Amino acid sequence: MLNLEKSAAAFEEAKKLMPGGVNSPVRSYRSVDCNPPFIARAEGSHIFDIDGNEYIDYVGSWGPMVVGHAHPQVVKALQEAAARGTSYGAPTLIESQLAKKVMEVYPSMEVIRMVNSGTEATMSALRLARGYTGRNKIVKFIGCYHGHSDSLLVKAGSGMATFGVPDSPGVTPGTAQDTITIPYNDFEAFKAVFAEQGAEIAAVIVEPVAGNMGLVLPKPGYLDLLRKVTTEHGALLIFDEVMCGFRASLGGAQAAYAVKPDLTCLGKIIGGGLPVAAYGGRRDIMEKVSPAGPVYQAGTLSGNPLAMTAGLETLKIITAPPEPGEPDYSRVLTIRTKKLVLGVAQKAKEAGVTLQVQQAGSMFGFFFSDKEVTDYETSAAADQEAFKVWFKAMLEQGIYLAPSQFETLFMSGAHTDEEIDRTIEAAGVALKKVAD
Ligand code: PLP
Repeated sequence: MLNLEKSAAAFEEAKKLMPGGVNSPVRSYRSVDCNPPFIARAEGSHIFDIDGNEYIDYVGSWGPMVVGHAHPQVVKALQEAAARGTSYGAPTLIESQLAKKVMEVYPSMEVIRMVNSGTEATMSALRLARGYTGRNKIVKFIGCYHGHSDSLLVKAGSGMATFGVPDSPGVTPGTAQDTITIPYNDFEAFKAVFAEQGAEIAAVIVEPVAGNMGLVLPKPGYLDLLRKVTTEHGALLIFDEVMCGFRASLGGAQAAYAVKPDLTCLGKIIGGGLPVAAYGGRRDIMEKVSPAGPVYQAGTLSGNPLAMTAGLETLKIITAPPEPGEPDYSRVLTIRTKKLVLGVAQKAKEAGVTLQVQQAGSMFGFFFSDKEVTDYETSAAADQEAFKVWFKAMLEQGIYLAPSQFETLFMSGAHTDEEIDRTIEAAGVALKKVAD
């Protein structure tokens, strides 16, 4: 039995200090009815809590830690950068170095602006799309998460193309009504929205590989449809690749599916574990951003030298050319992830548990469902009770997964074959518990 005594006490104390004891809701483990381990440190693929438990980590700080925790190259560069001062609020060379590195991998981003979080990136991209087109409405997909800015905290009522209703208290109806929400992967709903309101729509924002309703892949041709219809109606297509960037493939979903968006949002990995995100895209659009153009957006800590350093070192590692005949970094992660999901699928079969396994590059996830999961509705229909049993049984065995079925799991370059084997064995035990 896992001893989480110190974590439990720390959580009680934290609850007096922070809403729900945390600084971001999912960390509270509410959806799995248990207390979260408090983390003391992390190294490579391992994370250690304050009770002395050690786990193999497949959360990776919700995506950024693609090269593993405390990678020596990243840590060394950060130490050197910190010694030169932690923030200047003035232009630096490293901002341009990171911008160029990102553009090498994301050529659709002709001009880029660094910000501090994925929320800021998507919020700013929307403001830009509205400023550029002179239109107010946006289309988002139910179950896609783009951070917590007001216009994006909206989901649909039932039916297609409904006007938004506020999802969170504090989002005004006025804001919500400019957000049109439709089901992901629904071709007809998308066409219908544009047939009715196309002239008023500034932009469509999408997670081109969706990771916030569990992992859900776009159906063949869906992203092409979004591209075609937005172009026809003069609306911008925004790919929110904050999560799937550098993961669905090195070049993200846009490379994997060969669809070029007008604007892209990146986050997580480009900060290498420090707070960085970015938005960028077509030069003619990006030139509207202040001070080049009139659409205002700014940040005291944007382009922070420590954050740029962690991002640049991380990107150097994952874009390094492989040894001749060897697969590149991103391919290695994909192969490892495939081994893990196939291993778990086999254990599910042996235990007689119906499990859907999903994978996109180094992202993966599981649904306890016998239906194909293609959107929020089919994701939400999966068996949440089975998920709780699975999650707790994995944690007990030292496997650290995201505490919600609506999250995605991540492989890193630090995970070894042996750790993956251990994880598959643990999954076998956990799935037997699910079956009982
Ligand atoms: N967009 C996507 C696709 C995300 O997954 C997230 C966060 O998980 C965000 C935006 C928001 O990023 P942040 O939490 O850095 O504000």
